[in-house]
Amino acid sequence: MDLTKARQQAEALLKALTREAYLCGAGLKPESERAAIYDRFAELTSLTVFRDLQARAAMASPPEQRLLAALLEWLGAVLVEQAAASLLDRVETQEAQARVRVDGEEMTFRQAEIRLEQSPEPQTRRALQAARLEVIAACNPLRRDAVERMHETAWRLGFPHYRALAERLSGLDLTGLEAEGRRFLRETEDMYLDLLRWYLRRALRVHPKEAASHDLAHLFRAPDEDAHFPPGDLVLSAHRCLERMRLDPTGQGRITLDLEPRPTKSPRAFCAPLDVPREVVLVVAPRGGREDYTAFFHELGHALHFAHTDPELPFELRYLGDQGVTETHAFLLGSLIGNSQWLKYFLKVDQPESSARLAAFHRLYLARRQAAKLGYELVLHGAESLQGLEEVYAGALAGAVRVEWPATLYLADVDPWFYTARYLRAWWFEAQLEQYLVERYDEEWYRNDRTGGFLKELWHRGQSRSLEELGSELGLEALTPDQLIRDLTARLS
Ligand SMILES: [Zn+2]
Repeated sequence: MDLTKARQQAEALLKALTREAYLCGAGLKPESERAAIYDRFAELTSLTVFRDLQARAAMASPPEQRLLAALLEWLGAVLVEQAAASLLDRVETQEAQARVRVDGEEMTFRQAEIRLEQSPEPQTRRALQAARLEVIAACNPLRRDAVERMHETAWRLGFPHYRALAERLSGLDLTGLEAEGRRFLRETEDMYLDLLRWYLRRALRVHPKEAASHDLAHLFRAPDEDAHFPPGDLVLSAHRCLERMRLDPTGQGRITLDLEPRPTKSPRAFCAPLDVPREVVLVVAPRGGREDYTAFFHELGHALHFAHTDPELPFELRYLGDQGVTETHAFLLGSLIGNSQWLKYFLKVDQPESSARLAAFHRLYLARRQAAKLGYELVLHGAESLQGLEEVYAGALAGAVRVEWPATLYLADVDPWFYTARYLRAWWFEAQLEQYLVERYDEEWYRNDRTGGFLKELWHRGQSRSLEELGSELGLEALTPDQLIRDLTARLS
């Protein structure tokens, strides 16, 4: 297959997969059929094309080399995913259709998660979580087969394991990143533990020895704060803020919102870049409250980034490359929901301090969780067998977040292709970028009419730079967790 055709096919396949994920995630299509999509692109997703791209990438010089490396990385990830697609389709369908029964009441698996977060009673949360975990456990044999197929594919592509494949093709130093993640865990340990104990006692009334992941899910859902976050102001507050920065919230009509509740809609908000930059859909399942706002602003950050991407960029630089870039834009907008001045100004919250503090604690928790998850995923995808990994997973997660953590999630709570590393890098970079905006555009940069022009210029670059390259263009420090640690310490002490 010649290169032009390979690139066209790659773009078509990526769009088809994105559309499928959108339809299923939005609850508009009952069954995921990724395997059937891959079948239509059998010519592209072959070992021959992979080897050919590998050879071309090794020979190419800089501008072409970047495109080929991005395409090769994407194809590697696709081949791994494709090997497991039929199994993962079954998992998705099974979970979308699963129903659970708790205290005599029947609900869908996805509704149970929403109910769990809202429930003020620790016993009810535990019962709901147990019912959810049963559904997840029932799918674990399929997930185990899926991971084994992925590992075999990495080996077939000529790498000792999945970890080596991803590390080589992405060019990310995952081992170095994990070490920085461990430093982040160490340096934030005392602060995290103090706050955790305080929240468990004061907000949840749960003894630290009995606290579990589902209790924290309720803490961060924070139903007591719902009055500060009225559903009717969700879109409005975002629009008002963007307009203050002279930004068009619809990205010249390219961004469509899907906020409608549907029973089988994914509880996890997402942005579907169906055709970058022309067609972007933002999907949020509204549950009410603070988390809706955080999720909506996060996804709006992605949507604005994609909708403002330079249409002239080659496909590889509109879609592929360093996904930490798009996550940074998303985290930046999401961070507004934890900003007390923003809450005061745009949502008229009189005393926003406790809400801002909870948001900062949530950010600390998430970054710690990602750091631990990366450590675990490196073990998982470097392992010869999956024996004993449940304990490794639960130990790593519980060690970082310091509450009981369900081992059952050891295969369900794994992001494809070390996406966890992208999140972690984005948390670090976002803190640096926010600091830059404060210095350049004032403490309240989100109300400055000059900020929009700057952001548009960043978004316009699409995915054509890595975080390191963006950082050096902006004159930022090297990418480390230091600014995030400083920022969290200032907000939380
Ligand atoms: Zn995101």
